[in-house]
Amino acid sequence: MLERGEVANSWRRERWDSLRLLTPNWQSRLPGLRYEGPDPDGYMTMGEVTAFIERFATVSGAPVRTGTDVTSVRRADGGYHVTTSAGEIGCRAVVIASGACNRPAVPPFSDAVPASVGQLTPFGYRGPAQLPDGGVLVVGASATGVQLADELRRSGRPVTLSVGEHVRLPRTYRGRDVLWWMDASGVWDQRYDELEDLTRARRLPSAQLAGTPERATLDLNALTSMGVELVGRWAAVRDGRALFSGGLRNMFSLADLKMERLLDTFDEWAKTDGYDAEAGPPERFAPTRVPETARLELDLGSGEIATIVWATGFRPDYGWLDVPVVDAKGQLNHEGGAADSPGMYALGLPVLRRRKSTFIYGIEDDAREVIGHLARFLAGPGRL
Ligand SMILES: Cc1cc2nc3c(=O)[nH]c(=O)nc-3n(C[C@H](O)[C@H](O)[C@H](O)COP(=O)(O)OP(=O)(O)OC[C@H]3O[C@@H](n4cnc5c(N)ncnc54)[C@H](O)[C@@H]3O)c2cc1C
Repeated sequence: MLERGEVANSWRRERWDSLRLLTPNWQSRLPGLRYEGPDPDGYMTMGEVTAFIERFATVSGAPVRTGTDVTSVRRADGGYHVTTSAGEIGCRAVVIASGACNRPAVPPFSDAVPASVGQLTPFGYRGPAQLPDGGVLVVGASATGVQLADELRRSGRPVTLSVGEHVRLPRTYRGRDVLWWMDASGVWDQRYDELEDLTRARRLPSAQLAGTPERATLDLNALTSMGVELVGRWAAVRDGRALFSGGLRNMFSLADLKMERLLDTFDEWAKTDGYDAEAGPPERFAPTRVPETARLELDLGSGEIATIVWATGFRPDYGWLDVPVVDAKGQLNHEGGAADSPGMYALGLPVLRRRKSTFIYGIEDDAREVIGHLARFLAGPGRL
């Protein structure tokens, strides 16, 4: 196992200070290791996640070589030749577990933002104290965007949030964490080869969730109540002005509708599985409030916005992969984790084999199947 940094590198280096997992503690489990502390319904801090993964590395006896940067992987002699910062390796099979979120995804028009406005991505953001005074424009309203808008608003700054397609969820539903329902009702176990639109499922933004000790819902209504101004999806920059799409009403209705459909699925499961009596009564939530007037443009040169925070998602980085298995959009071509190159596999990518594939707790089932495939490959007729 080659790791360019340290064990749990992404949690140590690429997250902001206040972040907690949005998955509850009881869901932080890896084969042979689970959370056994006093607060199963709480959410781990970054220090706690790092310690948990370090402990897993020890308990599992994983042969990790830290400080080993893989700079190239290419086909050679029926297998692969791997170049690293600590030497060359020949191998018959490769498992790509380099993560789905190696780089922040920032739209190209960020280049046209006037130099007077500071720009940050979640990789560079640590906390509000690092920002100058003045207004902040947070772009993107998925898990990262809503959490940063919340934290920056609480720091006293005026915050505008640019909202594109998003997934709305309550933190708790009928007395349980909403992720408990995703798990229990089987939604998270839905398999990649059973989904109607796999490409869409793989592109779905993260849900508007935060892991706070209060277990509070952090949806757009909560942010509006705090004084965050909502604007539409940021579409372009023209003459130093940010141009936002209209149609917030439609976008909000769609997110509300999808949330309700998901809650219907949970209720249906509770009824058929006999859980109805144990859970609280079904709940429905107020529709997302549409601002009376949503601005369609904002003058970036006016001084109103001092900083832009791009919470527009993340993408993987395969710059080191010299095997033609990456598509034009920079995503790995694979079938349930088997890449388009014999003996090459992947883990930890969105809906790799199940909806839960990119979550810490989702890896176990995927890994078992992918490694089963790999073992058959090594034992099969293609073996060297
Ligand atoms: C902001 C954010 C919040 C998240 N919150 C949650 C959450 O609450 N709960 C949850 O379950 N999941 C959460 N996730 C998803 C989380 O990233 C995954 O659950 C988990 O980290 C995936 O583990 P991984 O090992 O596949 O990828 P990563 O954690 O990204 O690990 C990949 C590793 O590969 C190393 N690497 C990459 N390229 C190379 C190279 N060329 N050579 C050598 N080493 C390399 C990196 O240094 C890194 O350590 C979150 C993700 C983000 C971005």
